[in-house]
Amino acid sequence: GFKMGIVGLPNVGKSTLFNALTRTAAAQAANFPFCTIEPNVGEVAVPDARLDKLAAIAGSKQIIPTRMTFVDIAGLVKGASQGEGLGNQFLANIREVDAIAHVLRCFEDGDVTHVENRVDPVADAETIETELMLADIDSIEKRMQNLTRKVRGGDKEAVQQERLLKAALAVLEDGKPARTVEVDADDQRAWKLLQLLTTKPVLYVCNVSEEDAAEGNAHSARVAEMAAAEGNSHVIISAQIEEEISQLEDEEAEMFLSEMGLDEPGLDRLIRAGYELLHLETYFTVGPKEARAWTIRQGTSAPQAAGVIHGDFEKGFIRAETIAFDDFVALGGEQPAKEAGKMRAEGKAYVVKDGDVLHFLFNT
Ligand code: GDP
Repeated sequence: GFKMGIVGLPNVGKSTLFNALTRTAAAQAANFPFCTIEPNVGEVAVPDARLDKLAAIAGSKQIIPTRMTFVDIAGLVKGASQGEGLGNQFLANIREVDAIAHVLRCFEDGDVTHVENRVDPVADAETIETELMLADIDSIEKRMQNLTRKVRGGDKEAVQQERLLKAALAVLEDGKPARTVEVDADDQRAWKLLQLLTTKPVLYVCNVSEEDAAEGNAHSARVAEMAAAEGNSHVIISAQIEEEISQLEDEEAEMFLSEMGLDEPGLDRLIRAGYELLHLETYFTVGPKEARAWTIRQGTSAPQAAGVIHGDFEKGFIRAETIAFDDFVALGGEQPAKEAGKMRAEGKAYVVKDGDVLHFLFNT
């Protein structure tokens, strides 16, 4: 599955957000730094109204949304790459995630200590990014040492790695994140395998106060500008409201949201933004027993998509029967769609589209 790491300075609202996301009290929110010592891992259902529609049409007994994993990563403070705070432990946790949700404090509250005694989300973002850059430099230098012998021996992969690491090091030493390196198509694979922290896509989460939840504020506007300049994205959320909403029943939650002038929970926007950032898509399997959503990357072939359900589906893949979401809904289900000629048989080369309703045929 796909993993988002929640990072940010202490006291910006990471745990509050994580709690809201996972509806648990496991990640305890408290007004002191290093409250979340162990990386907390939570699975979140990806909200998708299309799944409910499909289930209603097919009369599916069960609805199973697709999931995304969130990891609450504590210990990222100024000097962390030099062992401050919880030290280097967080680095390994960040290395494993597909994208970073960077929570920035965009709320004023004299009762909640800010580690730097001021509210300045852009400066906070720079503090964290600097730590990640220092950590990248550190790991590159270590890796280069290990590569030297292989490079001398003429190992092609090692030569490529060294070349890419040098390119990354050059921009990092210039004070820029590794994502600013222009990487050729031929090098993309090896580049990804380097797993540099500052190449991970970033979603800035502007944590604003209740009053600013609908429109944001001057702080979040500055973050939006920064995100756009970097090619990253941002969402505006009030972690506190989200935590309250997460404890309400659906109807109550809707009333609460409309009172706040919000169309949907901020968490839905957050999860969707994560999806977009990671170039993820959803396909569906629909039957009387269950309607289920599955996550794939854009550009995934039918056999690979089948492999998300089970490895055997991919190995023994014969073909996929496909109905587009719109056709399934407009025609009123699988049988009528089939009769209208809207069910297609697709082979191994088919690239699955967002919203496809699929059946896989495979050898066992
Ligand atoms: P973490 O250290 O980043 O995990 O931060 P926490 O989630 O533990 O939050 C730190 C403190 O800030 C807690 O007392 C929260 O209740 C408070 N807090 C979180 N979000 C907001 C917010 O949007 N507004 C205000 N006023 N306080 C918040």
